[in-house]
Amino acid sequence: MRILSGIQPSGVLHIGNYFGMMRPAIALQSEGEAFYFIADYHALTSLHDPNAMRENSHRVALDFLACGLDPERGALFRQSDVPQVTELAWVLSTVTPMGLLERCHSYKDKIARGMTASAGLFTYPVLMAADILIYDSDVVPVGKDQKQHLEVTRDIATKINETFGSGPDGQVFKLPEPRIQTATEVVPGLDGQKMSKSYGNTIDIFGEEKETRKRIMSIITDSTPVDEPKNPETSSIFQLYSLVASAAETNAMREAFAQGGTGYGDFKKQLFARLWEHFAPMRARRAEILAQPDYVEQVLARGAERANAVAEQVMARVRRAVGLRR
Ligand code: ATP
Ligand code: MG
Repeated sequence: MRILSGIQPSGVLHIGNYFGMMRPAIALQSEGEAFYFIADYHALTSLHDPNAMRENSHRVALDFLACGLDPERGALFRQSDVPQVTELAWVLSTVTPMGLLERCHSYKDKIARGMTASAGLFTYPVLMAADILIYDSDVVPVGKDQKQHLEVTRDIATKINETFGSGPDGQVFKLPEPRIQTATEVVPGLDGQKMSKSYGNTIDIFGEEKETRKRIMSIITDSTPVDEPKNPETSSIFQLYSLVASAAETNAMREAFAQGGTGYGDFKKQLFARLWEHFAPMRARRAEILAQPDYVEQVLARGAERANAVAEQVMARVRRAVGLRR
């Protein structure tokens, strides 16, 4: 089984990335051959600062490794170290109906948030389809926001198979499956919307202690008075707490919400304490990695080599299938 997932260096990794994608991806490593990449071509749709791009890309790799990605089991690499993926995206774009892209929520959400509507942002799902198909991926662990993009990927792969498939099975590509964990499919941000690097509503995995506390204290709440009962199900504080607390602790907080008598400020303090503790082992691992200056770049170089070998094979198949080569 081949497992693939990517994460953009469009900012600093947050706990939505961790629970939605990184933790499941790390857990899946033992079930097959993993290819995890830093989606720098994708990040160019929102980030036009070359220094920030270089720094974020390195930092995403460091943080992913600190969270438990095992570079002996899986390949970790930069998307741009496999430029064949842009060649495949072009081929895919020639069979992709405009209407398919026009229906994509992610594009519409980003425009609504004030991002410029570039051609790259619009065709992002085509590049994502290429990312997945170029490694003959079977399983793609993602958050719910990427579900539609996986459907687009399957539609495009089917279109290629129908148009260019020949031979006994008639397949150029196999169809990948998303793997979405229901409990963590949309981790809410400080404003209650999906936590996103580009929305400025994040709690970072490796933020400074003071800053992390400050951000948690700034989670937006309703104005229910301290004494009144509160609804845990609609509270981001409770949702976030349930990600890092034990079942017993989660139940205790649910009851305290229902009972009344505790203010949101107290719940936020409990959230901070559990969250800070949860990521302590990852902070320790990160410090170990930082003590080996070349480690991250060595991992990325090895990952790029493995990814290139597979991508080149698949691209050779595609070039033959569409008639670019004999
Ligand atoms: P950007 O704002 O630049 O799009 P992002 O925070 O959405 O950044 P991505 O790099 O686009 O992060 O996504 C990486 C992975 O993390 C994807 O699989 C995505 O589904 C997942 N993910 C991102 N945010 C969340 C969230 N709030 N809850 C669950 N999963 C998430
Ligand atoms: Mg995103």
